Amino acid sequence: MKKLLILAAIAAVAVAFFMLDLHQWLTLEGLKSGLGRFESWRSEAPLLTAGGFFLLYVIVTALSLPGATVMTLAGGALFGLWQGLLLVSFASTIGATLAFLVSRYLLQSWVQSRFGNRLSAINRGIVRDGAFYLFTLRLVPAFPFFLINLLMGLTPIKAWTFYWVSQVGMLAGTLVYVNAGTQIAQLESLSGILSPDLLISFALLGLFPLLAKKLIGWIQRRRVYGRWQKPARFDRNLIVIGAGAGGLVSAYIGAAVKAKVTLIEAHKMGGDCLNYGCVPSKALIKSARVAHQMRQAERYGLEASSPRFSFRAVMARIHAVIRQVEPHDSVERYTNLGVEVLQGHAQLVAPWTVEIRLHEGETLRLTARSIILATGASPAVPPLPGLDDTGYVTSDTLWDRFAERDTPPERLVVLGGGPIGCELSQSFARLGSKVTQVERGQRLMAREDPEVAELVQTSLQDDGVQILTEHGALRTERRDGCNYLICDHQGQEVVLPFDELLIAVGRQPRLTGYGLETLGIETQRTLTTNAYLETLYPNIYAVGDVAGPYQFTHTAAHQAWYAAVNALFGQFKRFRADYRVIPWTTFTDPEVARVGLSEQEAIERSIPHEVTRYGLDDLDRAIAESERKGFIKVLTEPGKDRILGACIVGEHAGELLAEFVLAMKHGLGLNKILGTIHTYPTWAEANKYAAGEWKKAHAPDAALKWLERYHAWRRG
Ligand SMILES: Cc1cc2nc3c(=O)[nH]c(=O)nc-3n(C[C@H](O)[C@H](O)[C@H](O)COP(=O)(O)OP(=O)(O)OC[C@H]3O[C@@H](n4cnc5c(N)ncnc54)[C@H](O)[C@@H]3O)c2cc1C
Repeated sequence: MKKLLILAAIAAVAVAFFMLDLHQWLTLEGLKSGLGRFESWRSEAPLLTAGGFFLLYVIVTALSLPGATVMTLAGGALFGLWQGLLLVSFASTIGATLAFLVSRYLLQSWVQSRFGNRLSAINRGIVRDGAFYLFTLRLVPAFPFFLINLLMGLTPIKAWTFYWVSQVGMLAGTLVYVNAGTQIAQLESLSGILSPDLLISFALLGLFPLLAKKLIGWIQRRRVYGRWQKPARFDRNLIVIGAGAGGLVSAYIGAAVKAKVTLIEAHKMGGDCLNYGCVPSKALIKSARVAHQMRQAERYGLEASSPRFSFRAVMARIHAVIRQVEPHDSVERYTNLGVEVLQGHAQLVAPWTVEIRLHEGETLRLTARSIILATGASPAVPPLPGLDDTGYVTSDTLWDRFAERDTPPERLVVLGGGPIGCELSQSFARLGSKVTQVERGQRLMAREDPEVAELVQTSLQDDGVQILTEHGALRTERRDGCNYLICDHQGQEVVLPFDELLIAVGRQPRLTGYGLETLGIETQRTLTTNAYLETLYPNIYAVGDVAGPYQFTHTAAHQAWYAAVNALFGQFKRFRADYRVIPWTTFTDPEVARVGLSEQEAIERSIPHEVTRYGLDDLDRAIAESERKGFIKVLTEPGKDRILGACIVGEHAGELLAEFVLAMKHGLGLNKILGTIHTYPTWAEANKYAAGEWKKAHAPDAALKWLERYHAWRRG
């Protein structure tokens, strides 16, 4: 309402301006004919005339009315060069800033929420270089100033930056026009003021800041490398440190395009995912699920039974699975692909030099034009007093530590309510452990929508997991041969006995022990990189868990493409890592699969959206398999079928998500999914039905009413 009033007031002033023929005074002819009168006012009341002129100038520019150019000339004609320049310079900047603020107030949130996704690159550019762009635009008087004011108001540039850059940037052009105004009698037309030569000079002047910025970048790079002696020639095109998902894919790409690549791994080929992460956890989940289904066999018309098993055999299967996947990431495979694989600890000693302590004992130094750091992350362990006495396991140690157990731990406390904690809690509960899961926050899986977290939480509870949210771990204690975790819950201490404590509170990037300090490479929570995945040294890149912002195998592999291509071909073209469509899945039962915006995020960020839901309890295949728990939730742009995000909770959610990922990546809307044949009866049909729900909600009711009449008429 307030906005409408402001808009109406502006429109009224604009209409009055034209109705009262004021615009005629703001032409060259009008100015010339009225000049005598204006001069007599000025000699009678100089201050008042200057004040009135200033105010009128501010109003004309603030309301984006035509006539600012003539008023600038008037400034010169009436007040002379320097006083005119002073008045016009401030009046025009204040007026421009008011126009900018009005545009921002009235339109910015609407434009950003409607086109925010498409504007994101522009927004980023403005945040980074907005002052430079504005300066260039201001210096070149060929761009209509009123448009610059209005358009800049829609971007995220700060009002103060807009003000001072405008004031400085417009000064040269203002000077030319005010000076022309001092010669008003000789002036025949407005277009004569700016000769082509003058325009070109302004354009060059306008480009100067951008060129200066490039120069500063170049000097900064020189300074970063300043204390290092660059090798005259390099042993390798690319050295990759770490052979997890990020490192393996980087090396693969390098070798595929015939670069000479060395990949160095200090520990196990395949990194976390193969040895301690995705692969063993999914193998454990499968065994736990079979045990669960045996207990639940009645649901399928079979006799339920309590699974009898040796936990040692379950763990042996997990290690067998790792061994079966191992060849995909092995030294042999990568050697055959043309990668030189070295097993040892790598250390950066210069921006182009890596020292490798080989496992066999030898140490060697290699140089490379580019280096990719793919050193991963390790489980974060909070500094709880008592941990040394009671002991604990993490996802790194559990697979070996539990390998020799005949039975799963009787009382397992899992610290952490994120995806890893949830997957492992449920699995151990299904294998017979009495699991207590402790989370400091208000709910599990904080990143997902509350209803998603609730479904997972209920499922875990159904499996016997005791979930304690808002419980902050304080310390562990060992008393009388028994271990306890002490938590704080709303000011009270809660004591939880355990046989094993599994810490799963997140994973911290590896940032020490391989030369980052020597080179002064910046780190915050992760290794700091720019959009091209370059570190402080543009020839050293970082990918995967060590770089963030995501910690998944597929995002490490995704980044690896950008880093490898930029490292090997960046002199021709560099690519910014694209994080627009990032999917992930938590492999609990039911699975939780997500891509793009969640409903919670859309609300928090005030992004207009529509939510379409489809319950899996309606799907024929889900009914046939007695697995009806879960739903599909799709967020779309209001009134359009463009997908902003999708979340699937249920059986095979991770597999189902792929269709939405593809659709989002390639700009396909729900209509396209609806128009695609899905085999009956599959789980994938659920995606089509979700699209159908959206279609139903957007049925053209009025047209359908007419159709109904038409058919009635046809029946006679
Ligand atoms: C229990 C668990 C389950 C998971 N489940 C999934 C899942 O289902 N899906 C998913 O996408 N992600 C999952 N993840 C995450 C996934 O494992 C990681 O995101 C992925 O492994 C990251 O790959 P990376 O290449 O960045 O690092 P890593 O795989 O950690 O590899 C880094 C490698 O660098 C080596 N290294 C480090 N420093 C040096 C050095 N100085 N010299 C030589 N070598 C060095 C390390 O030894 C390591 O092998 C899971 C993680 C865990 C812990």
